[in-house]
Amino acid sequence: MRGLMMDTPLLVSSLIRHAAAVYGDQEIVSRTVEGPIHRYGYADAHHRSQQLANALASLGVEAGDRIGTIAWNTYRHFEIYFAVSGMGAVCHTMNPRLHPSQILYMLNHAEDRYVFVDQTFVPLIEQVASQAAALKGVIVMTDRASMPDSTLENLICYEDLIDGHSDSFEWPEFDEWTASSLCYTSGTTGNPKGVLYSNRATVLHSLTVAMPSVLNLSDSECILPIVPMFHANAWGIPYATAMTGTKLVMPGARLDGEAVYELLNDERVTFTAGVPTVWIMLLAYMREHGKKLNHLDRIVIGGSAAPRSMIRAFEEEFGVEVRHGWGMTEMSPVGAINTLSPAMRALPEEERLDIQSKQGRPPFGVEMKITDDAGNALPHDGVAYGELKVKGPFICSGYLGLEESEAHADGWFDTNDVASIDGQGYMQIVDRKKDIIKSGGEWISSIDLEDLAMGHPDVMQAAVIGIAHPKWDERPLLLIVPTSGRTPNKQDILSYLEDKVAKWWLPDDVVVVESFPIGGTGKVLKTELREQFKNYELP
Ligand code: AMP
Repeated sequence: MRGLMMDTPLLVSSLIRHAAAVYGDQEIVSRTVEGPIHRYGYADAHHRSQQLANALASLGVEAGDRIGTIAWNTYRHFEIYFAVSGMGAVCHTMNPRLHPSQILYMLNHAEDRYVFVDQTFVPLIEQVASQAAALKGVIVMTDRASMPDSTLENLICYEDLIDGHSDSFEWPEFDEWTASSLCYTSGTTGNPKGVLYSNRATVLHSLTVAMPSVLNLSDSECILPIVPMFHANAWGIPYATAMTGTKLVMPGARLDGEAVYELLNDERVTFTAGVPTVWIMLLAYMREHGKKLNHLDRIVIGGSAAPRSMIRAFEEEFGVEVRHGWGMTEMSPVGAINTLSPAMRALPEEERLDIQSKQGRPPFGVEMKITDDAGNALPHDGVAYGELKVKGPFICSGYLGLEESEAHADGWFDTNDVASIDGQGYMQIVDRKKDIIKSGGEWISSIDLEDLAMGHPDVMQAAVIGIAHPKWDERPLLLIVPTSGRTPNKQDILSYLEDKVAKWWLPDDVVVVESFPIGGTGKVLKTELREQFKNYELP
């Protein structure tokens, strides 16, 4: 028997319509790329999104067209998200930190018709625009006064483009399975692969993100997404804030410790989210200048493993609740979040940190299993570990333009991560499959070693890579970036690790480096480190 409920499609446009109608005055605050702070309400954002939709229609943009963005988190990027998806087109966010040849690949693969860029990225688009076959114009996200000089032919100013257009646009109603946005995930080899989100998945993911056990969004919260809108839709935050009327603070181009601290304090941010590399900068700034966090209540650390020392610092030194999170571009992206039960919160510090170091439990909408090499399911006992596989309504079923993908078999998506899951559903990433160090037929988790090394006061950042070894296949090499003003001693670091890991896990050598290569999404590039140290001779 079929239920008698309305057939109302789940559309991205419904999010901004709702925000404007119910939370019209709630603020969206941006540090602009031009410099000054900009503020307005959700109703204003909705009006300008409608102006933009009218303007795009006048340029000939139609449903299904792909429209690119290469931009920071600002109110204009927010308007583009809703205007483009709302009119039935596809908002294709690109990561500006990728190599120009990869940007060109994505522009051509997606067949973008227009691309929005911040002033900052005009030189980048100048390098590739003429080779992007489908591209008809570049829209610079600024006003007339700030338009840069450029060699590009069809360069359009954002404010000029929307100026004079009606701020009322009839958002079309269409099939909820229609694509809403597109984000390429850059593998370590081969070309980037396009993850094509649907309106339906985006709305369902927003409901999940808003839940108390995930981000706990509402109009009494204020969130600062440091995670960029070009990385998996800023973890879905712009959609979920519109759904819930959460005050939204956008950091623009400045992600340094001082700039982030200023916004956290001045805007009374209650909740922020980003990758560990950003929090390293914030912690260093706050410690150096004796700053405290007066309003911040919670922080999500995800994208790569949150070091135990970082969780401890936010919890103990700054009084902020840490929620460790895990996800993937392919998962919209939230896959797990570590929100503690009241009983766990009350545990002694070290026991609590043991749990918080895990990546967390899947929210409703994500199913997980771990399997051995033959694909057999392994027990959820917190001990067994294997390939992590996931499924759910906001997890991708394939890649754009790729007929088949190895990652999709039996209706599950293979994450290429190795993990354990305990009896209460808390998942812990052991490592990425390709980062695991295979020594004498056994596995060594690079994540675990890095986490332990970062507990040493002289170590600001650590990365462990496998070095080819004639007898053991691979042996771990520990690379460290020192804490400012400290001079780590190799023997001292190894002695520190000695009683914390099995003897055969101890790195064969320690090398101090000035900095690590950081990838487009703020993660340490292990591939580059492996390349750099491929001829390294272990003692
Ligand atoms: P991306 O799609 O670029 O966001 O990368 C997803 C990958 O990042 C995952 O498959 C994991 O390998 C890694 N990752 C994300 N969050 C975490 C985390 N909290 N701990 C360890 N690895 C993580």
